[in-house]
Amino acid sequence: MTPQAEVAARNDALLAWYEEHQRDLPWRRTTDPYPVLVSELMLQQTQAARVVPLFESFMERWPTVEDLASADAAEILAAWSGLGYNRRAVRLRQTARRIADEGWPTSAAGLAELPGVGPYTAGAIASISFGEAVPAVDTNLRRVISRWEGEPLEGRSLRDAAAQMVGDPAGSWNQAIMDLGASVCRPREPRCGGCPVNEWCTDPAVYTPPPRQAAFEGSRRQLRGALVRAHLAGEDLLEIGLALGRSEDEVRSAVGELDAEGLLPTREAGTVSS
Ligand code: SF4
Repeated sequence: MTPQAEVAARNDALLAWYEEHQRDLPWRRTTDPYPVLVSELMLQQTQAARVVPLFESFMERWPTVEDLASADAAEILAAWSGLGYNRRAVRLRQTARRIADEGWPTSAAGLAELPGVGPYTAGAIASISFGEAVPAVDTNLRRVISRWEGEPLEGRSLRDAAAQMVGDPAGSWNQAIMDLGASVCRPREPRCGGCPVNEWCTDPAVYTPPPRQAAFEGSRRQLRGALVRAHLAGEDLLEIGLALGRSEDEVRSAVGELDAEGLLPTREAGTVSS
């Protein structure tokens, strides 16, 4: 079999498996770019099971990109509560405003220019919603195709290999890789016995560790999240920060940072007490 024929056979097997085993997730019932965008931003750093209920209530409240573009920043942040990494919510609103004004970019390159939309998210939206034959390169895809190739791939070599392998339709292929990586080709102990592409995989022992997550307790992220929630609830920010065992200087500095990022909407910049 030629290398191209092997890639084609592996893609056929992967897509057939996906057809039968794909996870039923609400954002997969459509190719409309707006729900795809919202779900992809929510899924950055957050597991699908936690995203599902928040995604559903978010879409019910702001069913179109125009609705979101005209929504109040504080309401969006409140709806985002529970997902963490609140900057994503601010960027999503900025992106919605840009799209409402200028329309959707339809290529991965154009989508990657939007606030909060990196190369992975751009590839996912371009392939799922606009049919562009591009991979959505994330840690899942890196692990899976590194094992197919029999060596850890990174950077340029990873992107090039993924671009050569992407199947048709590319949106389903990207989602199939996502599901394969989540349920079969897991970081440790891949389930090769039940893997649909076993026949075309070079080395299951190739291990690409996921990026390390810094400890949450005592972190800046913990403080920032607590301050945003306290602000939305109208509580005293300094009290909340001190209760977490942080110094007044640290609380003031975090508040200044959050203000500058637009994460404390309607508050007077630099003030600490609500
Ligand atoms: S055979 Fe094993 S290592 Fe290779 S893709 Fe399938 S699960 Fe992953």
